[in-house]
Amino acid sequence: MSTFKAIVIDRNESGQSVGIRAFDEAELMDGDVTVRVSHSTLNYKDGLAITGKAPVVRRFPMIPGVDLVGTVEASSNPEYKPGDAVVLNGWGLGETHLGAYAEKVRVKGDWLIPLPQGLSPLQAMAIGTAGYTAMLCMMALERHGLRPDRGPAIVTGAVGGVGSVAVALLAGVGWHVIASTGRPEEADYLKGLGAAEILDRSELAGPSRPLAKERWAAGVDTVGSATLANVLSMTKYGGAIAACGLAGGMDLPTTVAPFILRNVALLGVDSVMAPKSLRIEAWSRIARELDHDRLAAMTSTIPLDRVLEAGREIVEGRIRGRVVVEIAG
Ligand code: NDP
Repeated sequence: MSTFKAIVIDRNESGQSVGIRAFDEAELMDGDVTVRVSHSTLNYKDGLAITGKAPVVRRFPMIPGVDLVGTVEASSNPEYKPGDAVVLNGWGLGETHLGAYAEKVRVKGDWLIPLPQGLSPLQAMAIGTAGYTAMLCMMALERHGLRPDRGPAIVTGAVGGVGSVAVALLAGVGWHVIASTGRPEEADYLKGLGAAEILDRSELAGPSRPLAKERWAAGVDTVGSATLANVLSMTKYGGAIAACGLAGGMDLPTTVAPFILRNVALLGVDSVMAPKSLRIEAWSRIARELDHDRLAAMTSTIPLDRVLEAGREIVEGRIRGRVVVEIAG
Protein backbone atom coordinates (compact mmCIF):
# COMPACT_ATOMS: atom_id res chain seq x y z
CA MET A 1 0.00 0.00 0.00
CA SER A 2 1.34 3.42 -0.97
CA THR A 3 0.45 6.29 1.35
CA PHE A 4 1.13 9.99 1.72
CA LYS A 5 0.83 12.46 4.61
CA ALA A 6 -2.34 14.55 4.78
CA ILE A 7 -4.67 16.44 7.09
CA VAL A 8 -7.88 14.40 7.07
CA ILE A 9 -11.35 15.32 8.29
CA ASP A 10 -13.37 12.23 9.25
CA ARG A 11 -16.94 11.98 10.43
CA ASN A 12 -18.57 9.36 12.63
CA GLU A 13 -21.58 9.12 14.97
CA SER A 14 -19.92 11.39 17.54
CA GLY A 15 -19.20 14.15 14.99
CA GLN A 16 -16.27 15.46 13.00
CA SER A 17 -12.61 14.78 13.80
CA VAL A 18 -9.51 16.17 12.15
CA GLY A 19 -5.84 15.23 12.29
CA ILE A 20 -2.71 14.42 10.30
CA ARG A 21 -2.48 10.82 9.13
CA ALA A 22 -1.24 8.58 6.35
CA PHE A 23 -3.71 8.53 3.46
CA ASP A 24 -3.93 5.60 1.06
CA GLU A 25 -3.08 6.67 -2.50
CA ALA A 26 -5.72 4.23 -3.77
CA GLU A 27 -8.37 6.44 -2.11
CA LEU A 28 -7.51 9.46 -4.28
CA MET A 29 -10.45 10.67 -6.34
CA ASP A 30 -10.77 10.61 -10.12
CA GLY A 31 -8.66 12.96 -12.20
CA ASP A 32 -6.26 12.95 -15.12
CA VAL A 33 -3.35 14.71 -13.41
CA THR A 34 -1.49 13.75 -10.23
CA VAL A 35 0.40 16.61 -8.58
CA ARG A 36 3.07 16.50 -5.88
CA VAL A 37 2.13 19.47 -3.69
CA SER A 38 4.90 21.80 -2.52
CA HIS A 39 2.86 24.56 -0.85
CA SER A 40 -0.72 25.34 0.07
CA THR A 41 -2.14 28.25 2.06
CA LEU A 42 -4.59 29.07 4.82
CA ASN A 43 -7.79 30.77 3.71
CA TYR A 44 -10.86 31.67 5.77
CA LYS A 45 -12.75 28.81 4.12
CA ASP A 46 -10.03 26.37 5.22
CA GLY A 47 -10.57 27.58 8.78
CA LEU A 48 -14.29 26.94 8.44
CA ALA A 49 -13.60 23.43 7.11
CA ILE A 50 -11.09 22.55 9.82
CA THR A 51 -13.20 23.85 12.69
CA GLY A 52 -16.49 22.60 11.21
CA LYS A 53 -17.94 26.08 11.87
CA ALA A 54 -19.74 26.07 8.52
CA PRO A 55 -20.70 23.16 6.24
CA VAL A 56 -17.83 23.67 3.79
CA VAL A 57 -16.94 19.97 3.59
CA ARG A 58 -19.34 17.98 1.41
CA ARG A 59 -17.86 14.46 1.58
CA PHE A 60 -15.95 12.40 4.12
CA PRO A 61 -13.18 11.60 4.54
CA MET A 62 -12.01 14.98 3.25
CA ILE A 63 -8.57 16.46 2.91
CA PRO A 64 -9.08 20.22 3.36
CA GLY A 65 -7.06 22.92 1.57
CA VAL A 66 -8.53 24.96 -1.28
CA ASP A 67 -5.36 25.94 -3.13
CA LEU A 68 -1.95 24.59 -4.01
CA VAL A 69 1.18 24.87 -6.06
CA GLY A 70 3.11 21.79 -7.08
CA THR A 71 4.75 19.70 -9.76
CA VAL A 72 2.96 17.31 -12.08
CA GLU A 73 3.91 13.73 -11.26
CA ALA A 74 1.72 11.88 -13.78
CA SER A 75 -0.68 13.09 -16.43
CA SER A 76 -2.91 11.72 -19.16
CA ASN A 77 -4.03 15.26 -19.98
CA PRO A 78 -2.39 16.55 -23.18
CA GLU A 79 -1.82 20.01 -21.66
CA TYR A 80 0.40 18.77 -18.81
CA LYS A 81 3.45 16.55 -18.50
CA PRO A 82 5.50 15.35 -15.56
CA GLY A 83 7.67 18.14 -14.16
CA ASP A 84 5.30 21.01 -15.06
CA ALA A 85 4.81 23.57 -12.27
CA VAL A 86 1.09 24.22 -11.72
CA VAL A 87 -1.29 26.23 -9.55
CA LEU A 88 -4.81 25.24 -8.53
CA ASN A 89 -7.45 27.02 -6.56
CA GLY A 90 -11.16 26.46 -6.09
CA TRP A 91 -13.23 24.07 -8.23
CA GLY A 92 -14.38 22.38 -5.00
CA LEU A 93 -10.88 21.43 -3.81
CA GLY A 94 -11.10 20.81 -0.07
CA GLU A 95 -14.91 20.89 -0.24
CA THR A 96 -16.14 18.19 -2.63
CA HIS A 97 -12.77 16.98 -3.96
CA LEU A 98 -9.82 15.80 -1.83
CA GLY A 99 -7.74 18.92 -1.22
CA ALA A 100 -4.38 20.50 -0.84
CA TYR A 101 -3.18 19.76 2.72
CA ALA A 102 -1.53 16.64 1.39
CA GLU A 103 1.67 15.58 -0.26
CA LYS A 104 -0.34 14.48 -3.29
CA VAL A 105 -3.54 15.39 -5.14
CA ARG A 106 -5.27 13.90 -8.17
CA VAL A 107 -7.37 16.44 -10.06
CA LYS A 108 -8.84 17.38 -13.42
CA GLY A 109 -6.22 18.98 -15.64
CA ASP A 110 -8.82 21.59 -16.67
CA TRP A 111 -8.69 22.96 -13.12
CA LEU A 112 -4.96 23.68 -13.29
CA ILE A 113 -3.14 26.68 -14.63
CA PRO A 114 0.61 26.87 -15.25
CA LEU A 115 2.59 28.59 -12.47
CA PRO A 116 2.57 32.22 -13.67
CA GLN A 117 5.89 33.49 -14.99
CA GLY A 118 7.79 35.63 -12.54
CA LEU A 119 6.42 33.92 -9.41
CA SER A 120 8.17 31.35 -7.26
CA PRO A 121 6.01 28.54 -5.83
CA LEU A 122 6.14 30.23 -2.42
CA GLN A 123 5.09 33.60 -3.87
CA ALA A 124 2.23 31.96 -5.78
CA MET A 125 0.84 30.58 -2.55
CA ALA A 126 1.53 33.81 -0.64
CA ILE A 127 -1.00 35.16 -3.15
CA GLY A 128 -3.20 32.05 -3.09
CA THR A 129 -6.97 32.11 -3.36
CA ALA A 130 -7.17 35.25 -1.22
CA GLY A 131 -4.86 37.25 -3.47
CA TYR A 132 -6.38 36.00 -6.68
CA THR A 133 -9.83 36.92 -5.32
CA ALA A 134 -8.57 40.41 -4.46
CA MET A 135 -7.48 40.77 -8.08
CA LEU A 136 -10.87 39.51 -9.33
CA CYS A 137 -12.44 42.26 -7.20
CA MET A 138 -10.16 44.94 -8.64
CA MET A 139 -10.89 43.71 -12.18
CA ALA A 140 -14.65 43.85 -11.46
CA LEU A 141 -14.32 47.49 -10.35
CA GLU A 142 -12.32 48.31 -13.48
CA ARG A 143 -14.89 46.58 -15.72
CA HIS A 144 -17.42 48.89 -14.12
CA GLY A 145 -15.35 51.79 -15.45
CA LEU A 146 -13.91 52.92 -12.12
CA ARG A 147 -10.44 54.47 -12.02
CA PRO A 148 -8.41 56.02 -9.16
CA ASP A 149 -9.33 59.58 -10.22
CA ARG A 150 -12.94 58.90 -9.18
CA GLY A 151 -12.12 59.06 -5.47
CA PRO A 152 -11.04 56.82 -2.62
CA ALA A 153 -11.45 53.04 -2.49
CA ILE A 154 -12.35 51.30 0.75
CA VAL A 155 -11.14 47.81 1.73
CA THR A 156 -12.90 46.10 4.66
CA GLY A 157 -11.27 43.34 6.71
CA ALA A 158 -8.06 45.00 5.61
CA VAL A 159 -5.63 43.10 7.85
CA GLY A 160 -6.98 39.74 6.60
CA GLY A 161 -5.68 37.85 3.55
CA VAL A 162 -7.98 39.17 0.83
CA GLY A 163 -7.91 42.60 2.46
CA SER A 164 -4.11 42.86 2.63
CA VAL A 165 -3.68 41.94 -1.03
CA ALA A 166 -6.54 44.25 -2.07
CA VAL A 167 -4.90 47.18 -0.25
CA ALA A 168 -1.57 46.52 -1.98
CA LEU A 169 -3.11 45.99 -5.45
CA LEU A 170 -5.39 49.05 -5.35
CA ALA A 171 -2.66 51.31 -3.93
CA GLY A 172 -0.26 49.91 -6.53
CA VAL A 173 -2.36 51.26 -9.40
CA GLY A 174 -2.90 54.64 -7.74
CA TRP A 175 -6.06 54.40 -5.64
CA HIS A 176 -6.28 56.39 -2.41
CA VAL A 177 -7.01 53.39 -0.19
CA ILE A 178 -9.00 53.61 3.03
CA ALA A 179 -8.31 50.45 5.02
CA SER A 180 -11.04 49.46 7.47
CA THR A 181 -9.89 47.27 10.35
CA GLY A 182 -10.70 46.24 13.89
CA ARG A 183 -6.99 46.12 14.64
CA PRO A 184 -5.78 49.75 14.90
CA GLU A 185 -2.45 48.41 16.18
CA GLU A 186 -1.82 47.18 12.61
CA ALA A 187 -1.97 50.73 11.15
CA ASP A 188 1.74 50.74 10.29
CA TYR A 189 1.42 47.33 8.62
CA LEU A 190 -1.48 48.61 6.46
CA LYS A 191 0.35 51.84 5.60
CA GLY A 192 3.33 49.73 4.58
CA LEU A 193 1.07 47.92 2.11
CA GLY A 194 -0.01 51.28 0.66
CA ALA A 195 -3.08 52.32 2.69
CA ALA A 196 -3.50 56.10 2.82
CA GLU A 197 -6.01 56.14 5.70
CA ILE A 198 -7.13 53.76 8.42
CA LEU A 199 -10.81 53.55 9.40
CA ASP A 200 -11.89 51.82 12.61
CA ARG A 201 -14.30 49.07 11.61
CA SER A 202 -16.66 50.04 14.45
CA GLU A 203 -17.65 53.02 12.27
CA LEU A 204 -19.16 50.53 9.80
CA ALA A 205 -20.56 48.06 12.32
CA GLY A 206 -23.89 49.49 13.51
CA PRO A 207 -27.23 49.55 11.71
CA SER A 208 -26.84 51.51 8.47
CA ARG A 209 -28.88 54.49 7.31
CA PRO A 210 -30.33 54.15 3.79
CA LEU A 211 -27.94 56.87 2.63
CA ALA A 212 -25.04 58.45 4.51
CA LYS A 213 -22.32 60.96 3.61
CA GLU A 214 -20.58 59.93 0.36
CA ARG A 215 -17.04 58.81 1.19
CA TRP A 216 -15.66 56.45 -1.50
CA ALA A 217 -16.19 55.63 -5.15
CA ALA A 218 -15.13 51.99 -4.99
CA GLY A 219 -14.53 49.21 -2.53
CA VAL A 220 -13.59 45.63 -1.84
CA ASP A 221 -15.71 44.11 0.92
CA THR A 222 -14.65 40.89 2.64
CA VAL A 223 -16.95 41.24 5.67
CA GLY A 224 -20.59 41.36 4.46
CA SER A 225 -23.52 41.95 6.86
CA ALA A 226 -23.87 45.43 8.48
CA THR A 227 -20.39 46.38 7.28
CA LEU A 228 -21.33 46.00 3.62
CA ALA A 229 -24.64 47.78 4.22
CA ASN A 230 -22.79 50.75 5.71
CA VAL A 231 -20.19 50.72 2.94
CA LEU A 232 -22.95 50.83 0.31
CA SER A 233 -24.73 53.70 2.08
CA MET A 234 -21.51 55.76 1.96
CA THR A 235 -20.60 55.00 -1.66
CA LYS A 236 -20.47 58.00 -4.00
CA TYR A 237 -22.90 58.50 -6.87
CA GLY A 238 -22.07 56.01 -9.67
CA GLY A 239 -19.62 54.03 -7.54
CA ALA A 240 -19.39 50.27 -7.04
CA ILE A 241 -18.45 47.79 -4.34
CA ALA A 242 -17.03 44.35 -5.13
CA ALA A 243 -18.35 41.92 -2.49
CA CYS A 244 -16.51 38.66 -1.97
CA GLY A 245 -16.69 37.78 1.73
CA LEU A 246 -18.76 37.04 4.80
CA ALA A 247 -16.26 37.28 7.67
CA GLY A 248 -18.82 39.39 9.57
CA GLY A 249 -21.91 37.46 8.49
CA MET A 250 -23.89 36.15 5.56
CA ASP A 251 -26.76 38.65 5.83
CA LEU A 252 -27.03 42.03 4.14
CA PRO A 253 -29.32 44.42 6.04
CA THR A 254 -29.51 47.19 3.45
CA THR A 255 -32.14 49.11 1.49
CA VAL A 256 -32.40 49.78 -2.23
CA ALA A 257 -31.59 53.47 -1.65
CA PRO A 258 -27.90 53.36 -2.73
CA PHE A 259 -28.84 51.50 -5.91
CA ILE A 260 -31.83 53.56 -7.03
CA LEU A 261 -30.87 57.00 -5.72
CA ARG A 262 -27.08 56.97 -6.20
CA ASN A 263 -26.67 54.54 -9.08
CA VAL A 264 -24.38 52.46 -6.87
CA ALA A 265 -23.56 48.92 -8.08
CA LEU A 266 -22.91 45.84 -5.99
CA LEU A 267 -20.55 43.53 -7.87
CA GLY A 268 -20.53 39.90 -6.76
CA VAL A 269 -17.18 38.11 -6.95
CA ASP A 270 -16.73 34.33 -6.83
CA SER A 271 -13.32 32.74 -7.27
CA VAL A 272 -14.23 29.05 -6.99
CA MET A 273 -16.01 28.53 -10.32
CA ALA A 274 -14.41 31.43 -12.22
CA PRO A 275 -13.65 30.44 -15.82
CA LYS A 276 -10.10 29.53 -16.77
CA SER A 277 -9.54 32.56 -19.01
CA LEU A 278 -10.41 34.92 -16.13
CA ARG A 279 -8.11 33.00 -13.77
CA ILE A 280 -5.19 33.21 -16.15
CA GLU A 281 -5.75 36.94 -16.65
CA ALA A 282 -6.04 37.54 -12.88
CA TRP A 283 -2.94 35.49 -12.02
CA SER A 284 -0.80 37.08 -14.72
CA ARG A 285 -1.87 40.57 -13.65
CA ILE A 286 -0.99 39.81 -10.02
CA ALA A 287 2.38 38.46 -11.11
CA ARG A 288 3.07 41.74 -12.92
CA GLU A 289 1.40 44.26 -10.62
CA LEU A 290 1.73 43.10 -7.01
CA ASP A 291 4.82 44.56 -5.39
CA HIS A 292 6.97 41.63 -4.26
CA ASP A 293 8.26 43.43 -1.16
CA ARG A 294 4.70 44.17 -0.04
CA LEU A 295 3.77 40.54 -0.71
CA ALA A 296 6.68 39.38 1.47
CA ALA A 297 5.63 41.83 4.22
CA MET A 298 2.17 40.27 4.47
CA THR A 299 3.30 36.62 4.35
CA SER A 300 4.20 34.10 7.02
CA THR A 301 4.97 30.41 6.53
CA ILE A 302 3.91 27.46 8.68
CA PRO A 303 4.43 23.68 8.45
CA LEU A 304 1.52 21.28 7.91
CA ASP A 305 1.34 20.39 11.59
CA ARG A 306 0.54 24.04 12.54
CA VAL A 307 -2.48 24.25 10.21
CA LEU A 308 -5.11 23.01 12.67
CA GLU A 309 -4.23 25.68 15.23
CA ALA A 310 -3.94 28.40 12.54
CA GLY A 311 -7.33 27.31 11.14
CA ARG A 312 -8.92 28.13 14.49
CA GLU A 313 -7.11 31.49 14.56
CA ILE A 314 -8.32 32.57 11.12
CA VAL A 315 -12.01 32.10 11.93
CA GLU A 316 -11.45 34.18 15.05
CA GLY A 317 -9.98 37.01 12.92
CA ARG A 318 -6.54 36.65 14.51
CA ILE A 319 -4.43 35.99 11.40
CA ARG A 320 -2.59 38.86 9.72
CA GLY A 321 -2.14 38.83 5.95
CA ARG A 322 -1.34 35.59 4.20
CA VAL A 323 -0.20 32.25 5.58
CA VAL A 324 1.69 29.82 3.32
CA VAL A 325 1.64 26.15 4.30
CA GLU A 326 4.88 24.38 3.48
CA ILE A 327 4.15 20.78 2.46
CA ALA A 328 7.35 19.62 0.75
CA GLY A 329 10.71 21.29 0.40
P1 NDP B 1 -9.18 36.52 6.89
O1 NDP B 1 -9.66 35.92 8.15
O2 NDP B 1 -7.74 36.53 6.60
O3 NDP B 1 -9.72 38.03 6.84
C1 NDP B 1 -10.98 38.39 7.28
C2 NDP B 1 -10.89 39.74 7.98
O4 NDP B 1 -12.21 40.21 8.21
C3 NDP B 1 -10.26 39.68 9.37
O5 NDP B 1 -8.88 39.72 9.31
C4 NDP B 1 -10.84 40.92 10.01
O6 NDP B 1 -10.12 42.05 9.52
C5 NDP B 1 -12.24 40.98 9.40
N1 NDP B 1 -13.25 40.40 10.29
C6 NDP B 1 -13.27 39.16 10.84
N2 NDP B 1 -14.35 38.97 11.59
C7 NDP B 1 -15.05 40.14 11.52
C8 NDP B 1 -16.28 40.58 12.11
N3 NDP B 1 -16.99 39.79 12.90
N4 NDP B 1 -16.69 41.82 11.80
C9 NDP B 1 -15.97 42.63 11.00
N5 NDP B 1 -14.80 42.28 10.43
C10 NDP B 1 -14.36 41.04 10.69
O7 NDP B 1 -9.98 35.80 5.71
P2 NDP B 1 -9.70 35.85 4.12
O8 NDP B 1 -9.06 37.15 3.79
O9 NDP B 1 -9.09 34.57 3.70
O10 NDP B 1 -11.19 35.86 3.57
C11 NDP B 1 -12.02 37.01 3.78
C12 NDP B 1 -13.44 36.69 3.35
O11 NDP B 1 -13.48 36.53 1.94
C13 NDP B 1 -14.00 35.40 3.96
O12 NDP B 1 -15.36 35.58 4.27
C14 NDP B 1 -13.84 34.39 2.83
O13 NDP B 1 -14.76 33.35 2.93
C15 NDP B 1 -14.08 35.28 1.63
N6 NDP B 1 -13.49 34.78 0.40
C16 NDP B 1 -14.33 34.63 -0.68
C17 NDP B 1 -13.86 34.19 -1.88
C18 NDP B 1 -14.77 34.15 -3.04
O14 NDP B 1 -14.50 33.42 -3.98
N7 NDP B 1 -15.86 34.91 -3.03
C19 NDP B 1 -12.45 33.76 -2.03
C20 NDP B 1 -11.62 34.04 -0.86
C21 NDP B 1 -12.16 34.50 0.32
P3 NDP B 1 -9.60 43.23 10.49
O15 NDP B 1 -8.89 42.56 11.60
O16 NDP B 1 -8.73 44.06 9.61
O17 NDP B 1 -10.82 43.96 10.95
